[in-house]
Amino acid sequence: MICKNITKANGHIFFAGQDVTELAKQYGTPLYLMDEDKIRENCRIYTNAFKKHFGATSQPLFASKSCSFKRIYEIMTEEGMGIDVVSSGEMYTAKMAGFDLSHAYFHGSCKTDFDIAYGMENGIGHFVADNFEEIDGIEKEAAKRGIVQKVVLRLSPGVDPHTYEEVATGKVDSKFGTAIETGQAEELVLHTLQQKHIQLDGFHCHIGSQVFGEDIFERGAVIMLEFIADMYKKHGFKTAILDLGGGYGVPYVESDPVLDVDKKVSEVAAAVHAACARLGIEEPEIHMEPGRSIVADTGMTIYTVGSVKKITGYKNYVAIDGSMADHPRYALYKSKYTCLCANKADEECTMEADIVGRCCESGDIIQPAVMVPASIKRDDMIAVCTTGAYHYSMASNYNRLCKPPIVMLKGGNESYVAVARETFEDLCKCDR
Ligand SMILES: *Cc1c(COP(=O)(O)O)cnc(C)c1O
Repeated sequence: MICKNITKANGHIFFAGQDVTELAKQYGTPLYLMDEDKIRENCRIYTNAFKKHFGATSQPLFASKSCSFKRIYEIMTEEGMGIDVVSSGEMYTAKMAGFDLSHAYFHGSCKTDFDIAYGMENGIGHFVADNFEEIDGIEKEAAKRGIVQKVVLRLSPGVDPHTYEEVATGKVDSKFGTAIETGQAEELVLHTLQQKHIQLDGFHCHIGSQVFGEDIFERGAVIMLEFIADMYKKHGFKTAILDLGGGYGVPYVESDPVLDVDKKVSEVAAAVHAACARLGIEEPEIHMEPGRSIVADTGMTIYTVGSVKKITGYKNYVAIDGSMADHPRYALYKSKYTCLCANKADEECTMEADIVGRCCESGDIIQPAVMVPASIKRDDMIAVCTTGAYHYSMASNYNRLCKPPIVMLKGGNESYVAVARETFEDLCKCDR
């Protein structure tokens, strides 16, 4: 199986030790399942690796955008994780869950005046400022409130995209951050240091997502540390925090590699230790922001088959009761997923079919060319694996479909509703 928490017994697929066909009967479909024990295990892999390789002050931050709802933030609090948020809405959700926002970092390449004020109102720990205008906005609001706001600057380290094709957000010409290569990052540092109501604590970079590639984090870290050494030499600025962003990949299909996070973190740490020694600088507090690698393999989506269409001589379709509205990543990125017939797990898969959703959209494909049992029919169950990241958080109400609930599984036999299924009333709640 693609992940250890997926097993098979009596012809059924089990997730986190529980029969998903039974859970589907109990809670209805489409259904998001999440494995609470696995979320905690993934958090601990990071918190332990960070303590071991970077020291006690370092911190992994959970990237909210991968999966944001109240219960997640309670778990993050209990596991001692910091968080990042990318909007006032994520901040609000974390606050409603009682998360201590002094351990939160506020990202985003276009924060509004409202966002800036809302962050300060709620005692956000740090703004991760993207650009000059944002610094000016933060200074203005902090002055008005008579506070000193802590900030880190998002920089783009310019890791060579030709060598590393999958790297998408750390390029010089990225929409995110301010470029080191062009000298604009240094200007932004000087501009920030001039502000009376801002305390500059350090720097942030995020190189890309679903990254497996060799030494991308190490290369990013070294470029950032060289910049940090430069800022110390030229301007006497001492960097307290270096945040290396998120992005470790997870396997979605059998052919994807499996990353050993502890080993990866140890390699980044070795590169950081070596670069700091070579550059003669004090090692900053290191942060990273895993999202996908904390929650992706803790999720599974369950659907019920509505029809099986065999177009003789052409192709087969298995239509299910969900859609791109709850499973957007195939439509967006052609992302690969592992799909299983949850109630016929012992049957041989001899028929190829596209698993498609119920939206009025030809592009509404869950996954093309999936091998399924030839007997598949209406009321059978399809389980899509590894859907814990960027599914619920990206879900929409396209076609006025209600978002599925999130049911948490724990201890091998307990389950509870963490997010309720949307109702028709919810759909019209804002309509006037
Ligand atoms: C998306 C994002 C992350 C998380 O990335 P994953 O691939 O989910 O680990 C972390 N930091 C920033 C700034 C991001 O934009």
